[in-house]
Amino acid sequence: MNKKELLSYLPKVDSILMDNRIASLKEVSRSIILEAIRETIELYRESILHEKLSEYSYDEIIKDILSNIKKKNSFHLKKVVNATGTVLHTNLGRAVLAKSAVEAVINTSTGYNNLEFNLDEGVRGSRYCHVEELLCKITGSEAALVVNNNAAAVMLVLSSLSKGREAVVSRGQLVEIGGSFRIPAVMELSGAKLVEVGTTNRTHLFDYENAVSENTGVILRVHQSNYKILGFTEEVNLEDLVKLGNEHDIPVVEDIGSGVLIDVTKYGLSYEPTVQNSIEQGIDVVTFSGDKMLGGPQAGIILGKKKYIDMMKTNQLTRALRIDKLTLAALEATLRIYLDEERVIKEIPGMAMLTKDILELKRDAQRLSRMIKNLLGNNVNLEVIRDFSQVGGGAMPLENLETYVVSINAPNISLDKIEYDLRKNEIPIITRISKDRMLFDVRTIFPEEYKIISQALYRIIGG
Ligand SMILES: *Cc1c(COP(=O)(O)O)cnc(C)c1O
Repeated sequence: MNKKELLSYLPKVDSILMDNRIASLKEVSRSIILEAIRETIELYRESILHEKLSEYSYDEIIKDILSNIKKKNSFHLKKVVNATGTVLHTNLGRAVLAKSAVEAVINTSTGYNNLEFNLDEGVRGSRYCHVEELLCKITGSEAALVVNNNAAAVMLVLSSLSKGREAVVSRGQLVEIGGSFRIPAVMELSGAKLVEVGTTNRTHLFDYENAVSENTGVILRVHQSNYKILGFTEEVNLEDLVKLGNEHDIPVVEDIGSGVLIDVTKYGLSYEPTVQNSIEQGIDVVTFSGDKMLGGPQAGIILGKKKYIDMMKTNQLTRALRIDKLTLAALEATLRIYLDEERVIKEIPGMAMLTKDILELKRDAQRLSRMIKNLLGNNVNLEVIRDFSQVGGGAMPLENLETYVVSINAPNISLDKIEYDLRKNEIPIITRISKDRMLFDVRTIFPEEYKIISQALYRIIGG
Protein backbone atom coordinates (compact mmCIF):
# COMPACT_ATOMS: atom_id res chain seq x y z
CA MET A 1 0.00 0.00 0.00
CA ASN A 2 1.15 3.51 -0.58
CA LYS A 3 1.14 6.32 1.94
CA LYS A 4 -2.23 7.63 0.89
CA GLU A 5 -3.90 4.24 1.15
CA LEU A 6 -2.29 3.53 4.52
CA LEU A 7 -3.65 6.83 5.81
CA SER A 8 -7.12 6.31 4.43
CA TYR A 9 -7.46 2.84 5.92
CA LEU A 10 -6.74 4.07 9.47
CA PRO A 11 -9.87 3.29 11.50
CA LYS A 12 -12.18 6.13 12.57
CA VAL A 13 -12.72 7.00 16.22
CA ASP A 14 -16.42 6.09 16.10
CA SER A 15 -15.78 2.64 14.73
CA ILE A 16 -13.04 1.97 17.28
CA LEU A 17 -15.46 2.98 20.04
CA MET A 18 -17.79 0.22 18.87
CA ASP A 19 -15.09 -2.45 18.92
CA ASN A 20 -16.00 -4.91 21.65
CA ARG A 21 -12.60 -4.74 23.31
CA ILE A 22 -12.99 -0.97 23.74
CA ALA A 23 -16.75 -0.81 24.31
CA SER A 24 -16.49 -3.35 27.12
CA LEU A 25 -14.30 -1.00 29.20
CA LYS A 26 -17.20 0.19 31.33
CA GLU A 27 -15.09 1.35 34.27
CA VAL A 28 -12.79 3.61 32.29
CA SER A 29 -13.80 7.22 31.84
CA ARG A 30 -14.87 8.14 28.29
CA SER A 31 -12.45 11.05 28.14
CA ILE A 32 -9.50 8.75 28.80
CA ILE A 33 -10.69 6.32 26.11
CA LEU A 34 -11.15 9.09 23.55
CA GLU A 35 -7.80 10.64 24.33
CA ALA A 36 -6.05 7.28 24.04
CA ILE A 37 -7.73 6.54 20.69
CA ARG A 38 -6.87 9.94 19.22
CA GLU A 39 -3.29 9.84 20.45
CA THR A 40 -2.69 6.35 19.12
CA ILE A 41 -4.21 7.09 15.71
CA GLU A 42 -2.18 10.30 15.53
CA LEU A 43 0.97 8.32 16.29
CA TYR A 44 0.20 5.94 13.41
CA ARG A 45 -0.54 8.87 11.10
CA GLU A 46 2.79 10.53 11.94
CA SER A 47 4.69 7.29 11.43
CA ILE A 48 3.07 6.76 8.03
CA LEU A 49 3.72 10.36 6.96
CA HIS A 50 7.37 10.09 7.92
CA GLU A 51 7.60 6.74 6.18
CA LYS A 52 8.45 4.88 9.34
CA LEU A 53 5.50 2.57 8.88
CA SER A 54 4.63 0.70 5.72
CA GLU A 55 2.06 -1.71 7.09
CA TYR A 56 -0.15 -2.18 10.10
CA SER A 57 -3.07 -4.28 11.18
CA TYR A 58 -6.31 -3.24 12.79
CA ASP A 59 -5.61 -5.57 15.73
CA GLU A 60 -2.24 -3.93 16.30
CA ILE A 61 -3.91 -0.55 16.55
CA ILE A 62 -6.49 -1.81 19.04
CA LYS A 63 -3.74 -3.42 21.12
CA ASP A 64 -1.81 -0.15 21.22
CA ILE A 65 -4.94 1.76 22.19
CA LEU A 66 -5.66 -0.69 24.99
CA SER A 67 -2.16 -0.37 26.40
CA ASN A 68 -2.38 3.42 26.15
CA ILE A 69 -5.70 3.34 28.04
CA LYS A 70 -4.19 1.14 30.71
CA LYS A 71 -1.31 3.57 31.15
CA LYS A 72 -3.59 6.61 31.35
CA ASN A 73 -5.93 4.88 33.74
CA SER A 74 -3.30 3.91 36.29
CA PHE A 75 -2.41 6.15 39.20
CA HIS A 76 0.61 8.36 38.86
CA LEU A 77 1.48 8.11 42.56
CA LYS A 78 1.42 4.43 43.33
CA LYS A 79 2.77 1.54 45.32
CA VAL A 80 6.25 0.33 44.39
CA VAL A 81 8.38 -2.56 45.64
CA ASN A 82 11.51 -1.30 47.37
CA ALA A 83 14.20 -3.90 46.79
CA THR A 84 17.06 -1.46 47.46
CA GLY A 85 17.43 -2.28 51.15
CA THR A 86 17.37 1.43 52.05
CA VAL A 87 14.73 1.50 54.76
CA LEU A 88 13.89 5.21 54.84
CA HIS A 89 14.20 5.91 51.12
CA THR A 90 13.26 9.55 50.56
CA ASN A 91 12.58 8.97 46.85
CA LEU A 92 10.33 6.04 47.70
CA GLY A 93 8.20 7.84 50.27
CA ARG A 94 10.31 7.42 53.42
CA ALA A 95 8.57 5.68 56.34
CA VAL A 96 5.98 2.99 55.68
CA LEU A 97 3.01 3.57 57.97
CA ALA A 98 1.94 1.14 60.67
CA LYS A 99 -1.38 -0.63 60.11
CA SER A 100 -3.04 1.24 62.97
CA ALA A 101 -1.95 4.55 61.41
CA VAL A 102 -3.55 3.64 58.08
CA GLU A 103 -6.74 2.57 59.87
CA ALA A 104 -6.82 5.88 61.73
CA VAL A 105 -6.58 7.77 58.43
CA ILE A 106 -9.48 5.79 56.99
CA ASN A 107 -11.61 6.11 60.14
CA THR A 108 -11.26 9.85 60.48
CA SER A 109 -11.44 10.78 56.81
CA THR A 110 -14.28 8.68 55.44
CA GLY A 111 -16.64 10.78 57.55
CA TYR A 112 -16.48 13.93 59.64
CA ASN A 113 -14.18 14.29 62.64
CA ASN A 114 -13.44 16.61 65.55
CA LEU A 115 -10.38 18.20 63.90
CA GLU A 116 -11.15 21.65 65.31
CA PHE A 117 -14.04 20.93 67.61
CA ASN A 118 -13.79 20.56 71.39
CA LEU A 119 -16.06 17.64 72.25
CA ASP A 120 -15.94 18.33 76.00
CA GLU A 121 -17.21 21.87 75.76
CA GLY A 122 -18.98 21.88 72.42
CA VAL A 123 -17.00 24.83 71.14
CA ARG A 124 -14.36 25.44 68.53
CA GLY A 125 -11.16 23.54 69.35
CA SER A 126 -7.57 23.42 68.14
CA ARG A 127 -6.19 20.92 65.66
CA TYR A 128 -2.91 21.02 67.51
CA CYS A 129 -4.25 19.51 70.75
CA HIS A 130 -4.79 15.99 69.37
CA VAL A 131 -1.16 14.96 69.72
CA GLU A 132 0.31 17.49 72.15
CA GLU A 133 -0.44 15.55 75.33
CA LEU A 134 0.75 12.31 73.78
CA LEU A 135 4.02 13.87 72.62
CA CYS A 136 4.63 15.34 76.07
CA LYS A 137 3.87 12.04 77.77
CA ILE A 138 6.28 10.09 75.56
CA THR A 139 9.13 12.60 75.61
CA GLY A 140 8.78 14.49 78.90
CA SER A 141 8.42 17.78 77.04
CA GLU A 142 6.42 20.70 78.49
CA ALA A 143 4.64 21.55 75.26
CA ALA A 144 4.46 20.49 71.60
CA LEU A 145 3.41 21.69 68.17
CA VAL A 146 3.31 19.85 64.86
CA VAL A 147 3.63 21.35 61.38
CA ASN A 148 4.01 20.19 57.80
CA ASN A 149 7.59 18.85 57.96
CA ASN A 150 10.86 19.39 59.77
CA ALA A 151 12.02 22.06 57.32
CA ALA A 152 8.88 24.01 58.21
CA ALA A 153 9.50 23.34 61.90
CA VAL A 154 13.02 24.81 61.76
CA MET A 155 11.76 27.80 59.82
CA LEU A 156 8.94 28.43 62.28
CA VAL A 157 11.21 28.15 65.30
CA LEU A 158 13.74 30.58 63.84
CA SER A 159 11.04 32.99 62.69
CA SER A 160 9.42 32.96 66.14
CA LEU A 161 12.55 33.18 68.27
CA SER A 162 15.19 34.83 66.14
CA LYS A 163 13.62 37.03 63.45
CA GLY A 164 15.81 40.08 62.90
CA ARG A 165 18.27 38.65 65.39
CA GLU A 166 21.29 36.41 65.24
CA ALA A 167 21.22 32.63 65.23
CA VAL A 168 24.56 31.16 66.26
CA VAL A 169 25.53 27.88 64.52
CA SER A 170 28.69 25.81 64.34
CA ARG A 171 30.36 25.69 60.89
CA GLY A 172 30.41 21.92 61.27
CA GLN A 173 26.60 21.83 61.29
CA LEU A 174 25.63 23.93 58.26
CA VAL A 175 24.09 20.92 56.60
CA GLU A 176 22.28 20.33 53.36
CA ILE A 177 19.66 17.60 53.40
CA GLY A 178 18.46 16.08 50.10
CA GLY A 179 15.66 17.95 48.38
CA SER A 180 17.37 21.31 48.90
CA PHE A 181 16.96 21.86 52.62
CA ARG A 182 20.00 23.97 53.55
CA ILE A 183 20.38 25.46 56.98
CA PRO A 184 21.75 28.83 55.75
CA ALA A 185 18.91 29.20 53.22
CA VAL A 186 16.18 28.27 55.68
CA MET A 187 17.66 30.73 58.11
CA GLU A 188 17.63 33.53 55.59
CA LEU A 189 13.98 32.85 54.75
CA SER A 190 13.02 32.89 58.42
CA GLY A 191 14.54 36.35 58.86
CA ALA A 192 17.21 35.19 61.28
CA LYS A 193 20.79 36.26 60.71
CA LEU A 194 23.30 33.45 60.50
CA VAL A 195 26.36 33.75 62.70
CA GLU A 196 28.81 30.95 62.02
CA VAL A 197 31.21 29.90 64.71
CA GLY A 198 34.16 27.50 64.88
CA THR A 199 35.57 25.58 61.94
CA THR A 200 34.34 22.70 59.80
CA ASN A 201 35.89 20.05 62.01
CA ARG A 202 36.20 21.74 65.41
CA THR A 203 33.97 24.09 67.35
CA HIS A 204 34.64 24.88 71.00
CA LEU A 205 32.52 26.31 73.77
CA PHE A 206 34.56 29.53 73.68
CA ASP A 207 33.55 29.97 70.01
CA TYR A 208 29.92 30.18 71.12
CA GLU A 209 30.81 32.32 74.15
CA ASN A 210 32.58 34.83 71.92
CA ALA A 211 29.66 34.99 69.51
CA VAL A 212 26.71 35.52 71.84
CA SER A 213 25.60 39.07 72.53
CA GLU A 214 22.45 41.07 73.14
CA ASN A 215 21.67 40.56 69.43
CA THR A 216 21.54 36.78 69.70
CA GLY A 217 18.11 35.24 69.20
CA VAL A 218 18.98 31.54 69.46
CA ILE A 219 21.85 29.13 69.70
CA LEU A 220 21.11 26.49 67.09
CA ARG A 221 22.47 22.98 67.05
CA VAL A 222 21.89 20.84 63.96
CA HIS A 223 22.24 17.08 63.80
CA GLN A 224 24.70 16.07 61.08
CA SER A 225 22.14 13.68 59.70
CA ASN A 226 23.58 12.48 56.45
CA TYR A 227 27.31 12.87 56.96
CA LYS A 228 29.98 12.47 59.59
CA ILE A 229 33.15 14.39 60.16
CA LEU A 230 35.79 11.94 61.30
CA GLY A 231 39.30 12.38 62.66
CA PHE A 232 40.39 15.54 64.48
CA THR A 233 36.98 16.81 65.49
CA GLU A 234 35.21 18.53 68.33
CA GLU A 235 31.63 19.52 68.95
CA VAL A 236 30.27 21.17 72.06
CA ASN A 237 27.99 18.83 73.97
CA LEU A 238 24.39 19.71 74.58
CA GLU A 239 24.80 20.12 78.34
CA ASP A 240 27.40 22.87 77.91
CA LEU A 241 25.36 24.63 75.24
CA VAL A 242 22.27 24.60 77.44
CA LYS A 243 24.31 26.00 80.33
CA LEU A 244 25.63 28.79 78.13
CA GLY A 245 22.13 29.58 76.89
CA ASN A 246 20.77 29.71 80.44
CA GLU A 247 23.54 32.05 81.57
CA HIS A 248 22.68 34.53 78.81
CA ASP A 249 18.95 33.85 78.76
CA ILE A 250 19.15 32.71 75.12
CA PRO A 251 17.04 29.74 73.98
CA VAL A 252 19.01 26.74 72.74
CA VAL A 253 17.34 25.07 69.77
CA GLU A 254 18.19 21.70 68.29
CA ASP A 255 17.24 20.31 64.87
CA ILE A 256 17.74 16.64 65.71
CA GLY A 257 16.70 15.50 62.21
CA SER A 258 15.39 11.99 62.63
CA GLY A 259 13.10 11.60 65.61
CA VAL A 260 14.50 8.67 67.53
CA LEU A 261 12.32 8.03 70.58
CA ILE A 262 13.75 4.72 71.78
CA ASP A 263 17.25 3.52 72.63
CA VAL A 264 18.14 1.74 69.38
CA THR A 265 21.40 0.28 70.73
CA LYS A 266 19.27 -2.34 72.51
CA TYR A 267 18.40 -3.67 69.07
CA GLY A 268 21.92 -3.76 67.70
CA LEU A 269 21.98 -0.36 65.96
CA SER A 270 24.62 2.23 66.76
CA TYR A 271 23.87 4.99 69.20
CA GLU A 272 21.58 7.77 68.01
CA PRO A 273 20.76 10.64 70.37
CA THR A 274 17.12 10.38 71.43
CA VAL A 275 14.67 13.25 71.65
CA GLN A 276 14.14 12.41 75.34
CA ASN A 277 17.86 12.85 75.96
CA SER A 278 17.76 16.40 74.58
CA ILE A 279 14.77 17.23 76.74
CA GLU A 280 16.42 15.79 79.85
CA GLN A 281 19.48 17.93 79.13
CA GLY A 282 17.21 20.97 79.31
CA ILE A 283 16.97 21.91 75.61
CA ASP A 284 14.57 24.82 75.04
CA VAL A 285 13.25 23.64 71.68
CA VAL A 286 13.89 20.48 69.63
CA THR A 287 12.52 19.67 66.17
CA PHE A 288 12.45 16.49 64.07
CA SER A 289 10.72 14.76 61.16
CA GLY A 290 7.67 12.54 61.51
CA ASP A 291 8.56 10.24 58.61
CA LYS A 292 12.14 9.26 59.33
CA MET A 293 13.09 6.98 62.25
CA LEU A 294 9.84 7.82 64.02
CA GLY A 295 8.00 5.88 61.32
CA GLY A 296 4.98 8.12 60.92
CA PRO A 297 3.60 10.46 58.25
CA GLN A 298 5.42 13.51 56.89
CA ALA A 299 5.36 16.03 59.71
CA GLY A 300 7.59 18.41 61.62
CA ILE A 301 7.42 17.93 65.37
CA ILE A 302 8.42 20.75 67.68
CA LEU A 303 8.88 20.09 71.39
CA GLY A 304 10.09 22.32 74.18
CA LYS A 305 9.36 24.90 76.85
CA LYS A 306 5.81 26.15 76.90
CA LYS A 307 6.72 29.83 76.63
CA TYR A 308 8.54 29.23 73.34
CA ILE A 309 5.92 26.87 71.89
CA ASP A 310 3.27 29.49 72.74
CA MET A 311 5.20 32.06 70.71
CA MET A 312 5.11 29.69 67.73
CA LYS A 313 1.41 28.96 68.11
CA THR A 314 0.62 32.63 67.61
CA ASN A 315 3.03 33.12 64.71
CA GLN A 316 1.10 33.73 61.44
CA LEU A 317 3.50 31.37 59.71
CA THR A 318 2.00 28.46 61.67
CA ARG A 319 -1.22 28.84 59.69
CA ALA A 320 0.67 28.49 56.43
CA LEU A 321 2.61 25.47 57.65
CA ARG A 322 -0.30 23.73 59.27
CA ILE A 323 -0.64 19.99 59.38
CA ASP A 324 -3.66 18.34 57.75
CA LYS A 325 -6.15 15.93 59.25
CA LEU A 326 -4.91 12.81 57.46
CA THR A 327 -1.43 13.43 58.79
CA LEU A 328 -2.69 14.10 62.29
CA ALA A 329 -4.68 10.88 62.32
CA ALA A 330 -1.66 8.85 61.20
CA LEU A 331 0.64 10.68 63.59
CA GLU A 332 -1.56 10.13 66.62
CA ALA A 333 -1.83 6.41 65.89
CA THR A 334 1.93 6.14 65.35
CA LEU A 335 2.69 7.95 68.60
CA ARG A 336 0.29 5.71 70.51
CA ILE A 337 2.48 2.76 69.54
CA TYR A 338 5.36 4.46 71.38
CA LEU A 339 3.45 4.16 74.66
CA ASP A 340 4.69 0.52 74.69
CA GLU A 341 8.21 0.04 73.45
CA GLU A 342 7.72 -3.62 72.48
CA ARG A 343 5.03 -2.52 70.06
CA VAL A 344 7.43 -0.12 68.30
CA ILE A 345 9.72 -2.86 67.01
CA LYS A 346 6.80 -5.04 65.96
CA GLU A 347 4.31 -2.57 64.53
CA ILE A 348 6.33 0.23 62.96
CA PRO A 349 7.46 -1.30 59.66
CA GLY A 350 10.72 0.67 59.39
CA MET A 351 11.72 -0.27 62.91
CA ALA A 352 10.87 -3.92 62.25
CA MET A 353 13.03 -3.84 59.11
CA LEU A 354 15.96 -2.14 60.84
CA THR A 355 15.99 -4.66 63.66
CA LYS A 356 15.34 -7.78 61.60
CA ASP A 357 17.41 -10.78 62.59
CA ILE A 358 20.20 -11.77 60.19
CA LEU A 359 19.16 -15.43 60.11
CA GLU A 360 15.63 -14.43 59.25
CA LEU A 361 16.99 -12.25 56.43
CA LYS A 362 18.97 -15.23 55.16
CA ARG A 363 15.92 -17.50 55.19
CA ASP A 364 13.87 -14.85 53.38
CA ALA A 365 16.53 -14.40 50.70
CA GLN A 366 16.67 -18.16 50.17
CA ARG A 367 12.91 -18.29 49.84
CA LEU A 368 12.82 -15.47 47.27
CA SER A 369 15.66 -17.14 45.39
CA ARG A 370 13.75 -20.46 45.28
CA MET A 371 10.60 -18.75 44.03
CA ILE A 372 12.51 -17.12 41.19
CA LYS A 373 14.34 -20.35 40.35
CA ASN A 374 11.07 -22.30 40.21
CA LEU A 375 9.66 -19.97 37.58
CA LEU A 376 12.74 -19.10 35.56
CA GLY A 377 14.85 -22.24 35.77
CA ASN A 378 18.16 -21.93 33.96
CA ASN A 379 17.30 -18.61 32.34
CA VAL A 380 18.71 -16.85 35.35
CA ASN A 381 21.86 -17.10 37.47
CA LEU A 382 20.93 -16.78 41.13
CA GLU A 383 22.94 -16.43 44.28
CA VAL A 384 22.11 -15.54 47.86
CA ILE A 385 24.92 -13.36 49.20
CA ARG A 386 25.76 -11.18 52.20
CA ASP A 387 25.59 -7.47 51.67
CA PHE A 388 24.74 -4.27 53.51
CA SER A 389 21.51 -2.28 53.76
CA GLN A 390 21.26 1.41 54.57
CA VAL A 391 19.07 3.21 57.06
CA GLY A 392 18.48 6.16 54.70
CA GLY A 393 16.40 9.27 55.30
CA GLY A 394 19.52 11.13 56.28
CA ALA A 395 19.90 8.97 59.35
CA MET A 396 22.97 7.02 60.46
CA PRO A 397 24.97 7.45 57.23
CA LEU A 398 27.77 5.17 58.41
CA GLU A 399 25.58 2.40 59.71
CA ASN A 400 26.16 -0.69 57.59
CA LEU A 401 23.39 -3.13 58.34
CA GLU A 402 24.36 -6.68 57.48
CA THR A 403 21.81 -8.27 55.22
CA TYR A 404 21.25 -10.99 52.63
CA VAL A 405 20.40 -10.21 49.04
CA VAL A 406 19.31 -12.27 46.08
CA SER A 407 21.72 -11.51 43.28
CA ILE A 408 20.75 -12.24 39.70
CA ASN A 409 21.91 -11.91 36.15
CA ALA A 410 20.59 -13.44 32.99
CA PRO A 411 22.73 -14.87 30.20
CA ASN A 412 20.55 -13.51 27.38
CA ILE A 413 19.30 -10.14 28.54
CA SER A 414 21.12 -7.06 29.82
CA LEU A 415 20.75 -5.85 33.41
CA ASP A 416 19.84 -2.39 32.15
CA LYS A 417 16.93 -3.86 30.22
CA ILE A 418 15.79 -5.90 33.24
CA GLU A 419 16.12 -2.85 35.48
CA TYR A 420 14.03 -0.78 33.06
CA ASP A 421 11.32 -3.41 32.68
CA LEU A 422 11.08 -3.93 36.44
CA ARG A 423 10.83 -0.17 36.94
CA LYS A 424 8.04 -0.01 34.34
CA ASN A 425 6.22 -3.02 35.79
CA GLU A 426 2.57 -2.51 36.72
CA ILE A 427 3.76 -2.48 40.33
CA PRO A 428 7.19 -0.95 39.78
CA ILE A 429 10.11 -2.82 41.35
CA ILE A 430 13.10 -0.69 42.30
CA THR A 431 16.40 -2.54 42.58
CA ARG A 432 20.07 -1.96 43.04
CA ILE A 433 22.66 -2.85 40.39
CA SER A 434 26.15 -3.54 41.66
CA LYS A 435 28.89 -4.46 39.19
CA ASP A 436 27.32 -7.03 36.85
CA ARG A 437 24.54 -8.14 39.14
CA MET A 438 21.11 -7.03 40.15
CA LEU A 439 20.45 -7.19 43.86
CA PHE A 440 17.17 -7.71 45.70
CA ASP A 441 17.64 -6.86 49.38
CA VAL A 442 14.98 -8.74 51.34
CA ARG A 443 15.19 -6.33 54.29
CA THR A 444 12.82 -3.89 52.61
CA ILE A 445 10.73 -6.37 50.61
CA PHE A 446 7.44 -7.46 52.16
CA PRO A 447 6.74 -11.23 51.99
CA GLU A 448 3.66 -10.70 49.83
CA GLU A 449 5.88 -8.93 47.28
CA TYR A 450 8.05 -12.00 46.55
CA LYS A 451 5.40 -13.20 44.13
CA ILE A 452 5.26 -9.82 42.39
CA ILE A 453 9.03 -9.93 41.88
CA SER A 454 9.27 -13.51 40.67
CA GLN A 455 6.37 -13.13 38.27
CA ALA A 456 7.72 -9.87 36.86
CA LEU A 457 11.11 -11.50 36.29
CA TYR A 458 9.34 -14.43 34.61
CA ARG A 459 7.57 -12.06 32.21
CA ILE A 460 10.79 -10.18 31.44
CA ILE A 461 13.31 -13.01 31.24
CA GLY A 462 11.11 -16.02 30.53
CA GLY A 463 11.12 -19.54 31.96
C1 LIG B 1 15.74 15.43 57.30
C2 LIG B 1 16.19 16.63 57.99
C3 LIG B 1 15.55 17.86 57.80
C4 LIG B 1 14.39 18.00 56.86
O1 LIG B 1 13.28 17.35 57.38
P1 LIG B 1 11.94 17.21 56.49
O2 LIG B 1 10.99 16.55 57.42
O3 LIG B 1 12.31 16.39 55.32
O4 LIG B 1 11.52 18.58 56.13
C5 LIG B 1 16.03 18.95 58.47
N1 LIG B 1 17.08 18.86 59.30
C6 LIG B 1 17.73 17.69 59.51
C7 LIG B 1 18.92 17.67 60.43
C8 LIG B 1 17.31 16.53 58.87
O5 LIG B 1 17.95 15.37 59.06
